[in-house]
Amino acid sequence: MADRSFLDWPFLDDHHRRLAAELEEWAARELHTIDHDDVDGTCRELVRRLATGGWLTHATARPDADPAHPLDVRALCLIRETLARHSGLADFAFAMQGLGSGAISLFGDAALREEYLPAVRAGRKIAAFALSEPEAGSDVAALATSAVPDGDHYVLNGIKTWISNGGIADFYTVFARTGEAPGARGLSAFVVDAATPGLAISERIRVIAPHPLATITFNNCRVPRSHMLGASGAGFKVAMATLDVFRATVGAAALGFARRALDETLRHTMQRKLFGAPLADLQMTQAKIADMALAIDASALLVYRAAWTRDCVASRVTREAAMAKLHATEAAQQVIDQAVQLFGGRGVTHGEKVEELYREIRALRIYEGASEVQRLVIARQTLG
Ligand SMILES: Cc1cc2nc3c(=O)[nH]c(=O)nc-3n(C[C@H](O)[C@H](O)[C@H](O)COP(=O)(O)OP(=O)(O)OC[C@H]3O[C@@H](n4cnc5c(N)ncnc54)[C@H](O)[C@@H]3O)c2cc1C
Repeated sequence: MADRSFLDWPFLDDHHRRLAAELEEWAARELHTIDHDDVDGTCRELVRRLATGGWLTHATARPDADPAHPLDVRALCLIRETLARHSGLADFAFAMQGLGSGAISLFGDAALREEYLPAVRAGRKIAAFALSEPEAGSDVAALATSAVPDGDHYVLNGIKTWISNGGIADFYTVFARTGEAPGARGLSAFVVDAATPGLAISERIRVIAPHPLATITFNNCRVPRSHMLGASGAGFKVAMATLDVFRATVGAAALGFARRALDETLRHTMQRKLFGAPLADLQMTQAKIADMALAIDASALLVYRAAWTRDCVASRVTREAAMAKLHATEAAQQVIDQAVQLFGGRGVTHGEKVEELYREIRALRIYEGASEVQRLVIARQTLG
């Protein structure tokens, strides 16, 4: 296995080290056979297994948590990194339980937390995060789904697309325009049960690394006022604070994919004979391996720096999380590409792990803020 010395870094505590060791053992035992043909069934099964293993307790706010730090972001990152190294779908199943319920962990009142978080932890409810729309992806302020008050309800109309877990989720955290002010200041967040009349899955979307993904339509969908997260008009803040936490964990997942690519590369280049010697003996191979190892360590430093800062120093880590996501996802793409190159023809063959990683990594540079958006965020924070 690739270098594990990062576990000794001062960003982590001893309970994180124990967590990483226990999860490693669990993942090796539980995740060696993953069915990629039935992604809905597999994700449901993975959520069940992650709940039974106790791992989903880390995806939601602990009942006794300090309100300023409801989530242990270092634990989230370690879990995503480890799961991604073993299975992209297992990481996806874990991550969506966290992201889909993240706004409840961070902004939910006692009633919403009690209604949803224990069920998410136990794997009884599958969660999803519904922000993007056909005309509002990077430009969140353009979102058009409306939520109009009507008695003790809001009535939602509009379309959300690219929604992970769309089709298998039991509830969605939905962002809609309530109109308190123009643009980003006129949005609110709601918890919407999948069974609510008027909510329909209008299209299932197939992507290069298959996982449950859908377009959702809201047609006069009535949601109780009590299901609003945070204040009316504070939806953009709810979304950004949730992404602040989970962006660093996207970097952690990319790191896990990159570490797996390096593991595969080391095994392959030491076994594969070329010109009478192992491929690893060639200096051009060694240069690639050095670049891969360096990129991985730099990503790990940025990911665990962001997670530690959120856990121990600051309530918002916009700059650190953007740097972690940007660097780790871009670097992982390059590391995996190098791995594919070193595998030769096998590298692009279905069934090879590096071919799967090549498909898995791509979307991470687009979702939860594309790389260009992360650059803008970092530039804004740096300028001032
Ligand atoms: C696999 C997958 C899963 C997803 N899951 C979810 C989910 O669960 N929930 C959810 O709400 N959304 C989800 N999304 C949507 C995702 O967040 C959006 O795709 C993303 O925000 C980009 O929006 P867009 O696709 O509309 O692209 P656009 O906003 O049209 O952007 C297109 C491209 O333009 C470039 N760009 C963007 N901004 C700038 C800029 N300022 N300057 C220069 N270039 C720029 C970027 O390269 C970007 O990729 C998912 C997407 C994918 C692919």
